[in-house]
Parts: sequence; C-alpha cells; structure tokens
Amino acid sequence: MTTKGFSTTLIHQGEGTTDPPAPLTTPIYETTTFIFDNAEQIRQYNEGSRSKFIYSRYENPTVVALEAKLAAADGAAAALAFSSGMAATSTLLLALLKSGDEVVCGASVYGGTFHLLNDFLPKFGIRPRFATLDELGRPETLLGERTRLVWFESPINPTARCVDVRRIAAACRTGNVLSVIDNTFAGAVNQRPFELGVDLSMQSATKYLGGHSDVTAGVITGSATLVKEIEMARRKLGGVLDPQPAYLLVRSLKTLAVRVQRHNQSAMAVAAALERHPRVKQVLYPGLPSHPDHELAKAQMSGFGGMMCIDVDGGEDAACRAFDRLQIVRRAASLGGVESVCSLPILTSQWGHSDAQLAAAGISRGMMRLSIGLEDPDDLIADLRQALE
Ligand code: PLP
Repeated sequence: MTTKGFSTTLIHQGEGTTDPPAPLTTPIYETTTFIFDNAEQIRQYNEGSRSKFIYSRYENPTVVALEAKLAAADGAAAALAFSSGMAATSTLLLALLKSGDEVVCGASVYGGTFHLLNDFLPKFGIRPRFATLDELGRPETLLGERTRLVWFESPINPTARCVDVRRIAAACRTGNVLSVIDNTFAGAVNQRPFELGVDLSMQSATKYLGGHSDVTAGVITGSATLVKEIEMARRKLGGVLDPQPAYLLVRSLKTLAVRVQRHNQSAMAVAAALERHPRVKQVLYPGLPSHPDHELAKAQMSGFGGMMCIDVDGGEDAACRAFDRLQIVRRAASLGGVESVCSLPILTSQWGHSDAQLAAAGISRGMMRLSIGLEDPDDLIADLRQALE
C-alpha cells in the first residue's frame, strides 16, 4: 500500500516516533495508548519482562516522570499520582482494607477524609474509630483486634496542632497496623514521614506541591510493596492523574524547596506580628514558642510551614468583619498556593458543627485560617492589621 488517503495520512503521519531528541524538560505525553510493533511485545509487556507503556490509565511517561520526582522528594521507594487528594485517599483505603477492618482516624482531619470514613466506607463494612488529640498522644491504647490502619494529620487542619508522628508510627509497627500520615500541611520539605517511621504518606498535591492554585492532584508515597498494591487498585478505580496536570506538577516541583522556604519565613513573620495584635486572642502556628505543640513540632519538623489559625477577639462577628475587610489576602478555600488565602473554619470545614463538636476539635467561632503565600510579608502583615482594626 503506497498511497494513503488524506485523513489516514493526517491521522498516522509521524506517530510512534521512536527516536526523539532529548528534551530538557519532561514532555507531556498526551496519549491514551501506546503502539506495539507485534504480538510478542504485548506478551512481553504482560509478563513484565518489557517495560513498555500500554495504556495511560495504567502508566504514562509524563506521570511516571512525576512519580519518580515525588518518590525522591519524600525519600520513598515509590510514588503514585492521582487526580485529587481524595482519589489518593479513597484508593489507598479501598486497596488496603476489607470488610470487618477498623480504621483509627484523628477526630480532627480534613473534612473530606472524615466524611469518606464516616459516611461512605461503612457501606463496605469498614468501620472508623475517631480519636481525640489526647488519645492520639497515647496511640498504644487505641489499637484493637480489628484495627488495620491508623490515619492521621500533623499539623492538623485547621488548628495546626501536631501529634507525635514517631510515637504513632512505632505503636503501629508494634501492633502490626499500617500507619498513614496526611502530610499535606507540612510537605516533604518540612517533615520527612519515612524518617519518622510511618508506612505511607498521602498529600493533596493541589496544595504546596502544585503551589500555584491551578492543579488538582494527589500523591501517595511508600514502600514498593504497598505502593504496588495501591497501584493495582488505582487501575481498577481509575483515579490516575492526567498527563497535563502531571506536567504542571513536574514543573512546580522544581521550585518546591524555595517556595516552601519562603512560605516558612513569611508565615513566621506574620504569626509573630499577629501574636502581638490587641484584637487577636491566640495565634496557632507551630513555629511560635506559645503553640501548645511547639516542642513536638521542633522535634519532627525542619520548618513550620505556611499554615496558621488565628483566634480573633470578639468571636464570629469580629472574625467575619476582619475577613470581609481583607484586601490582599484572598477570601478562598484551599491552601498552599503563591497567593495568601483566608478561610473561616465555621463556614467551611466545620460548617454546621455544634458548639460541642467545635470544642472537641479545638476550634472556636472566631478562628480564621490563613495560608501564607509568597507576597511580601510586610504587605500581608499590613493587610491583616488593617482588617483586624
Ligand atoms: N488533606 C488535606 C489536609 C486537605 O486540606 C485536603 C483538601 O483541602 C485534602 C486532603 C483533599 O485534597 P483534594 O482537594 O486535592 O482532593
């Protein structure tokens, strides 16, 4: 066959080029599938003796390049990228748990995680047991016959309280239970989960890893064996990351260390300035000596991150007034981007919670959660001061 039709030519010309020049940056392999030369190659792929790609829901070169960077960032053997933090969380839990298993989970965790465990997984016979901060401080007493996994955050959303990561990981190891940290707030630059002994780390890459408020993604890192088990579930559940956002994350990771350093410095400056403000009752920032978990944070974090919670004198009304007066800090959910954002926990993560529930989570009606971005810290301090007047 020598002459091809117009459409056939436009569809097939140039495809499957096998010898491209070496690009400096990771290209976006925007393809759903990959060409094989013959049946034998597919057989070899199936038998695992040939590392070729077959279908982008299983693996894609841009996503694989991202996963190599994410594993290296965490000092982990392997990493998996997902279409959101919740896709990562749900795939991990469905991969590793079965009916009859119990999950111990910090009572103060991201709302989406709470609802997944509380409202959804019980349908499959997986039972949550929510533990207070005090109980997480004595993890040995929490693990029962049926406990298979402990899920926790540190620092915790939104109060930036911390739990003893080493102690939880050690108790889990002794009890033959998997420990999983949601390391979204601290990230790998500030807190190294595997050096602290945990089995798996999950991060919403929507936050600091993406860093520019334009990517929704999630990541899991851990041992090759556990990650492989989760990867097999990801194939079935389908929550893999698309190559386009994978490319954006590859780019973001190149500046992660410098961004996080600046987030840390600016947040420390803002926290120290707000602590002295007469309209502020308390600033919860792990880097401040006044933070209830400062010593713990120092022992397990190398930087204290960009997240803080301030308790405004005058409660809900005063917090709402200050919120409405912000001019540089944006009124928005989410966190970890170059833009500073503020949210009111009682209107977002804790919406509809009773006073008793708020008290149990250590949250007051006057709290404002701040994600300190990369603007000039003096501008942020001035904006927050004028908003609080
Ligand atoms: N974990 C934490 C601590 C979060 O703050 C969030 C989202 O805000 C998630 C997990 C869920 O991540 P995503 O929104 O990417 O699904």
